[in-house]
Amino acid sequence: MDYKEHIAIVEDWPKEGVQFKDITPLMDNGPAFKAAVDEIVEYAKDKEIDIVVGPEARGFIVGCPVSYALEIGFAPVRKEGKLPRETIKVDYGLEYGKDVLTIHKDAIKPGQRVLIVDDLLATGGTIEATIDLVEQLGGEVAGCAFLIELTYLDGRSKLDGHDVLTLMQY
Ligand code: 5GP
Repeated sequence: MDYKEHIAIVEDWPKEGVQFKDITPLMDNGPAFKAAVDEIVEYAKDKEIDIVVGPEARGFIVGCPVSYALEIGFAPVRKEGKLPRETIKVDYGLEYGKDVLTIHKDAIKPGQRVLIVDDLLATGGTIEATIDLVEQLGGEVAGCAFLIELTYLDGRSKLDGHDVLTLMQY
């Protein structure tokens, strides 16, 4: 499946100089979206995953159908102030300033095997922070899956030692 024909490249969005990879045409196309989700499910099948974790917001879109197909749970990672119960948090660096990601304290039990899913791996900051949260709770990151990898930003170097699947590379 040539997924790239379903990715819209938007110049200068959200700011000048950025080439945004828009996944909504892929989501719009039933067979293409299903094929992409199925590929991640296949990747996860022999990893004995207990739970899928995805950062907001597009990590929910890709991660939830994966957890549904695997018949396991999904735990959301969100910006500070969005989750209603007790959370743990991690600060992570953005290009300018920093941000905070959180997860419910009881989302993962110690020893659980976790698949982290997001739409896109860029600098790797978001996924590094998500791994940090999973490991703070005693979870074991068994794999990380993305639709898209921006190889020129070398986010993979932040995922040292972790198993990574990406379906498209730019
Ligand atoms: P990173 O933390 O790896 O630098 O950035 C990855 C995060 O930013 C992901 O959660 C992703 O949703 C978002 N992101 C950054 N650039 C793009 C892009 O071009 N397209 C999409 N769909 N998401 C992006």
